[in-house]
Amino acid sequence: MQGGNRLETPTLAEQKQELRIWKCEDTNCNAWVREEFVHEESPGCPLCKSPMVQSYKLVPLAVKKVNKTFFMGKRRL
Ligand SMILES: [Zn+2]
Repeated sequence: MQGGNRLETPTLAEQKQELRIWKCEDTNCNAWVREEFVHEESPGCPLCKSPMVQSYKLVPLAVKKVNKTFFMGKRRL
């Protein structure tokens, strides 16, 4: 994958939205999950089991590249 200087329209590149998330309290751990996916009052980090804290993240409005599944993979069957 080559991530060079891709030209994007400036207006689009600067549009960001505040995404409410839960993030791992451990600064060494980068785990975070979108708030809308969390249905617990105080979720724990799925990776290191640390408590998670509410936070937010600025993300570009047009999110095409970020296509990874979040860490909260608990499925309720
Ligand atoms: Zn963690």
